[in-house]
This record gives sequence, C-alpha cells and structure tokens, in this order.
Amino acid sequence: AAPARSEARPMEAAVPQLNALGLKIADRIRETGPLSVADFMAVCLGDPDLGYYMRRDPLGLSGDFVTAPEVSQMFGELVGLWLIEVWEAAGRPKPFALVELGPGRGTLMRDALRAARVRPEFLAAAKLHLVEISPVLRARQREQLASVGEVPTWHHRLATVPKMPVLVVANEFFDALPIRQFVRAGGEWRERVVGLDTAGRLAFGIGPGGLIEPDVPAVAAGAEEGAILEVSPASTAVMAEIAHRIRENGTAALVIDYGYARTALGDTLQSVRRHAYVDPLADPGEVDLTAHVNFEALARTARSEGAAVFGPMEQGPFLLSLGLVERAGRLGAGRDTALQNEIRAAVERLAGPDEMGTLFKVLAVTAPGLTPPPFGPRT
Ligand code: SAH
Repeated sequence: AAPARSEARPMEAAVPQLNALGLKIADRIRETGPLSVADFMAVCLGDPDLGYYMRRDPLGLSGDFVTAPEVSQMFGELVGLWLIEVWEAAGRPKPFALVELGPGRGTLMRDALRAARVRPEFLAAAKLHLVEISPVLRARQREQLASVGEVPTWHHRLATVPKMPVLVVANEFFDALPIRQFVRAGGEWRERVVGLDTAGRLAFGIGPGGLIEPDVPAVAAGAEEGAILEVSPASTAVMAEIAHRIRENGTAALVIDYGYARTALGDTLQSVRRHAYVDPLADPGEVDLTAHVNFEALARTARSEGAAVFGPMEQGPFLLSLGLVERAGRLGAGRDTALQNEIRAAVERLAGPDEMGTLFKVLAVTAPGLTPPPFGPRT
C-alpha cells in the first residue's frame, strides 16, 4: 500500500528491522515527509557517516560487484590508448586535465597510464584530477597511482577541476548518480517516493500529483497505469558540465556504463550485495544502489551544450575495434595455459554478448570536428 504523509508512525513505535541509516531516514520522513527516490539514493550512497561509499571498498570478488577494470588490465590499457589517440587528434594540448569520475580502486587509471608510457609527451602534459566522494576509495586510488608514479589531485565535484583542455573518463560512474522515478497513476505522472508503511518499515509509495519534470519523452505518451519513467537530473548536470568544458576548452570524454541507448519506460533501480540482487529498501547504506544509464538523455544534454556526440556503441564492439583480441594475444604469448585461459575468459567477460559486451555502452563526447576512435561519421 502507498504510504501517505499522514501515515507517519509515532516515535515510540518499535521498528527493530531498521538499521542505523534506516532509522535516520525514517526520522527524516516523519519530519518532512517521504523522500523522492533520488533523495533516497543520495542518502544511501553518500550520507557522510553511514553512506554506502563512505565506509567501504565495494569492489572485487570479496565486495559487492566487479567492474571491467577489475576483470582485466586490458580494459584500462585500451582506454589509455584511446586517450592518447584523442589527445593527438586534438593537437596535443599541453597541459590538459586528465579527469576520472568515480575512479573506484584507481585500477583503470593505473592501467591506462602504464599503457600510455609509449607516449611520454602525453604523460608529461597530463594533470591528473580524480572526482571521488569516498575517503576509502581515495586511499586505494592513492596507492594504486603511486605504483605508476602519479600523485593526483582529488575533487568532490567536477566543478572545482581547473578550466583547461580536458579528457574525461567515467566507467560505471553515472549509474551511481541519483534518479527520480515517476509513476503513471490515474492518468498523470506522480513522483515515486520512499515513505513508511503502517509497520514503520521503509516502503515505496506514490507522492503528490503533478509532473515536476517538464520533459516527458515521446515514449512516455501512451504509458499504461503503473508505468515508471526515470530521469536523472544529477546525471544531466554532470554531463552538461563535461560538455560545456569540452566546448569551451577542447578535447573529449568517454562514458562507459550499463544502460539503454534509447529512452524507455521501466523501473531500473537495483540493489546488489555480494554479487546478488537484493531489495533496495532492505538495508540502506549497506547495499549498492544503482540505476541504468539513459544514454539518449546524456547524448541530448551533450549536444545541447554544443559538443559532438558519438555512439552509444556497445562495449563489445568498442573494445574489439580498439584491439582487445590482439592485446590479449600479446599478453598471453609464451605464458602458461592457465594464464592464457584466464585472459580468454576476461575477453569473453568484457566483450561477450551475454556478459558485459552488449548491456554496457560507450558514449564519446568531443569538441566539434574531432572524431574519436573507433567511431565513424558523427551521429
Ligand atoms: N570506475 C570504477 C568504480 C565504479 S563504482 C570502476 O570501474 O571500477 C562508482 C565510483 O563512483 C566509486 O568510486 C564511487 O565512490 C564513486 N562515486 C559515486 N557517487 C559519486 C559522486 N556523486 N561523486 C563522485 N564520485 C562518486
């Protein structure tokens, strides 16, 4: 049942099932009403004391999820070669800001910079800036990058990175940014909210009517009762900032994430713990919370800021065009069978259609006139 603001429980109601962050959220709901899904996500992931990213390294087999750079060094190496090619196509700007959004353990950047040793001028021109909210992951990044002799500068937001030509990389970053959800109810779009049910547990509900988002895509026109529409103002804001900088100061961005190429209806909010899907409301701050990335919306934002857009292209064809198989061959040459099998499995994992190859998409955003590999004519 949908909780209404009036259903807030008295403070003495026993709610033993809520964890520390759950109690904090419940108090906030009692004080100011249900949260939008976006506010709920933002608190769960970024609460300064209890947020998911604040207290742990969630990556890897012992964590909650595995990302492409953690699957194989080949991923970061190919991204590194992409960066060099784009930097050269842009006329070798010096200096330029090499920016990674949400660098996780710093593995992608470490592998990219190691691969970039083939072009010392690139490394000499690059000023490394990392945008990261997690103190735990910042520490991992510091260690990993020290191993390739780099000392980055950290930022909480892209806005504080100095204005200069920029190359931006974002792998599995946009999926962690909050989304708002709207539910089709009684012939209108109403915000989906997180409130409290009569037992004092967190529960999804339907908020006040009236569509706050003016921009309803065409696909949403014939929506049936109960349909869900997602928008991510946070993602739009970050992409607008990226594209604006590219337009003003030059060069490009590479966005890799899971999501859809065209706006579609549907609930993509998902929660993962130890590599399995769990209830997004069950254990706030203790589980990963993401949503699929709307690449059509990101592309539209980038174009509206005057940048050129390429893709989205599926990750499989992207990596194969950049030379994944050749790289795997060189990496495995003369090594034992076990390692060669491991490399083969990594290629399959990164590029295979049933694995990361089709769900994950790649979007390149560039200054007008610059065509990044491996894209053809501008879309
Ligand atoms: N890119 C890495 C990590 C992906 S996990 C990889 O591919 O392995 C998401 C990353 O984004 C983490 O580093 C997380 O701490 C960071 N992050 C999440 N929300 C953020 C925000 N709002 N601002 C900056 N970084 C954020």
